[in-house]
Amino acid sequence: MARLRIAYARIAQETNALSPVRTVMADFERTHLFAGAELARNCAKGGEEAPGFLKNAELSGFIKAVGEVDGVEAVPLFSAWAVPNGPLAADCFEALKARLVRELEAAGPIDGLFLVLHGAMNADGVPEPEAVLMAAARAVIGEAPIAVTMDLHANLTRQKIEACDLICAYRTNPHRDHFKVGYRCGQLLIRSLRGEVKPTRAWRTLPLILGGGTTVDFLPTMRPLFKRMKQMEKDPRVLYCSLFMVHLWNDSREVGWSTHVITDNDPALAERLADELADMAWGVKDVMPPEFKSAEAAIATVRKARLARATGTVTLCDASDVVGAGAAGESPHLIKALLGATDLVSYAPIRDAGVIEAVWDQPIGAQVSVEIAGKLDPERNPALAVQGTLLRKEATVPFGRVAVLDLGPVKLVVTEGQPLAMKPAFYKDVGLDPMKADCVVVKSLFPFLLYFLPYHRRAVYVKTSGVTDFDAARDLAFDDDLHPFQQVDAWRPTDRKRREGAAS
Ligand SMILES: [Zn+2]
Repeated sequence: MARLRIAYARIAQETNALSPVRTVMADFERTHLFAGAELARNCAKGGEEAPGFLKNAELSGFIKAVGEVDGVEAVPLFSAWAVPNGPLAADCFEALKARLVRELEAAGPIDGLFLVLHGAMNADGVPEPEAVLMAAARAVIGEAPIAVTMDLHANLTRQKIEACDLICAYRTNPHRDHFKVGYRCGQLLIRSLRGEVKPTRAWRTLPLILGGGTTVDFLPTMRPLFKRMKQMEKDPRVLYCSLFMVHLWNDSREVGWSTHVITDNDPALAERLADELADMAWGVKDVMPPEFKSAEAAIATVRKARLARATGTVTLCDASDVVGAGAAGESPHLIKALLGATDLVSYAPIRDAGVIEAVWDQPIGAQVSVEIAGKLDPERNPALAVQGTLLRKEATVPFGRVAVLDLGPVKLVVTEGQPLAMKPAFYKDVGLDPMKADCVVVKSLFPFLLYFLPYHRRAVYVKTSGVTDFDAARDLAFDDDLHPFQQVDAWRPTDRKRREGAAS
């Protein structure tokens, strides 16, 4: 059999279109940017694909699939991954696109491209930037198939689907199957290149932006849908099923949940299953996420949770400023409330490069008086004056320079970069033991639930005011009426219109 060459790359960022902060090349450089031989080493067995974040992710899974067959060569291009944030600045997007083109040209003839995208990226002045990336790749590689993995919070559109040949989404939320999805998508690409399968696809798009309860895959509301997809794939004709639950703060005019099914040369079956999944998704549309507490109510809950505090800690999800969903991480609202709770020990993060600059040359133990917030998104995050003691300074890779301020009841972790407080290590690495706190603030919507399992005895979601409030998405422009923002009786008319492209 002729040798197959498959190039692989990642360009991933989840965009919160409401954030005024722009994503620039430095954000990728600081967080995750690898290429060539170094990328290949990271993705090889025993390597660490995304240092500080994930040992193995999609590209390691793809490499495993390649390693299991003879005659396939994996050609590393580059992997660029940034923390969720505002839209990509135009020059940042252009630089990434140009690099993809340049490296594909330099790679020589290839038979396929394996691409990791998020699926909910926005860039200034570029509608559907991920479709544009794929089209740019297509212009270099011609008919060679493009296989793409996406986050299940992607916004699937006709443009994205038409720009590639295969799409496989995460099947867990919180996401813990990056590697497996990469592996399965890689296998599928190899099998189709060898002519062992002939992928045929169908999809549905729903005028549904919020529903499914917590949307956690293993909880009662969503479990039947994820179970059904597994069951569908027991049929050898069914190659992959995806259910997308959207990133709702996205500048995507046709936003909505969607389904996508790949079958082996059986378009009718793909249509039937994509349709069935869409009906199931519409069936859970009225299960809303739980109501989040006000800061005051959340603090009262922490106070009452004596056993939880005695045996561990309580996590407070700052649901209005979720860095993991693209917020700036500079909200002072919850910090202000916690400063008033003088009977509790709280840990909280904030992004504030100005404060880092102001305290960096001070000695440990110095008394500092600074204004936090009010810099990146001053309208939503007004400045707050605080006084305290400088406890620690640390130069970190994922968060830039970090300083810990003791503000009395609140130990404040000030970061230069995005404070993705999602894992206990965010605090432990700067000398704060979560077990010693009554409550710790996290800036992640779901993943912290897994990472904090050994530490937190209770999780409380808090709503103050910010770009990751569910109702904040009402400020974005959409083409269609969307459940639950408007009354929508049926999903099929919108689906039909969108798939036919009448709206474009
Ligand atoms: Zn996601």
